Amino acid sequence: MYDNLKNSTFLIGKTLEELEELAILLNHKKFRGKQLFNWLYVQQVDNYENMSNLPVDFRNKLKNLSIHPLKLVQQKITDSKQTGKFLFSLNNGNLVESVLMHEGSRTTVCLSTQVGCAVDCDFCATAKMGFIQNLTSGEIIDQFLHLQKMSDNKITNVVFMGMGEPFLNYKNTLEAAHLLHDSRGINMGAWRITISTAGIVRKINQYAKDKEPFKLAVSLNGSNNNQRLKIMPITNACTLDELIEVSKAYTLKTRKRITFEYVMLKNINDSMQDAKNLISLIKSIKCKLNLIPYNEIDGPYRRPDDQTIMIFLKVFKNAPFPVTVRWSKGQDIDAGCGQLITKESKYNEKN
Ligand code: SF4
Repeated sequence: MYDNLKNSTFLIGKTLEELEELAILLNHKKFRGKQLFNWLYVQQVDNYENMSNLPVDFRNKLKNLSIHPLKLVQQKITDSKQTGKFLFSLNNGNLVESVLMHEGSRTTVCLSTQVGCAVDCDFCATAKMGFIQNLTSGEIIDQFLHLQKMSDNKITNVVFMGMGEPFLNYKNTLEAAHLLHDSRGINMGAWRITISTAGIVRKINQYAKDKEPFKLAVSLNGSNNNQRLKIMPITNACTLDELIEVSKAYTLKTRKRITFEYVMLKNINDSMQDAKNLISLIKSIKCKLNLIPYNEIDGPYRRPDDQTIMIFLKVFKNAPFPVTVRWSKGQDIDAGCGQLITKESKYNEKN
């Protein structure tokens, strides 16, 4: 009966139009789909009994479909209670992680778009898993809905920076972002949603061409091509100069500011000369630079000490763009940037 509805097993991930289509398929009026959309994304209720304005017959028919594609299997919260890491099981048992962070008036979630990742950045824990699968838009947005339920504060910002390369799962990632942004549902401002890429050039071009309203972040992580190539093999496919060029074209075409991310690795890319090179690279681009002191995993890379970070930062004193340092919280629970990895690839009920 539901064959012509994509991802028909679960309701989360469906758009308003798809739910209206579902209502008609189930012999109910189209507007019932809108009511259902409201229950799922505005009220965020997760059982049919509470959807009080839906006819009993419609609710009974809906019971053949599950609401949530994800099941929470584990959570770790830092001692400060500022950061939490959450492990979810997909329907097929594969696992994925998301992070919830509170800082001042901001509550940010970092969502995953893939299980594992094929991009193979040398410093990244997720890369060690290899690529396992893309997440559906429902599996992406369900992370948000679960985290909102567990958060005492309303989530104010979303970054697609968890496990996976969002632009290698472009369609599902953008569908999830649009569901977040839909004013009839969750209604999150586009400026509060950031999609981060390691530098998939053809997709940056498409993102600009599609006039997507969300923010864009690009991970540089190297101040020259050879340095970046050693830690990010994707530089083989697109040189640092090409990445800078396409980033600049994005800002000119969209008139939007781009964020450059720079993971600082001790004795690899944290010298004053690196800082000077970075300024030369990006000074003509409408951008902001986000420095991310490395969060250590089992591997050869180390985090620069705070003094080195401060010296590096000082070089940017007169730079024509803003610079921030992301003093990542959550390293003690391996929830810092680049630390997401699921040690077991499958969920086992005995875990
Ligand atoms: S840093 Fe991002 S793009 Fe690179 S391997 Fe890790 S998850 Fe993939």
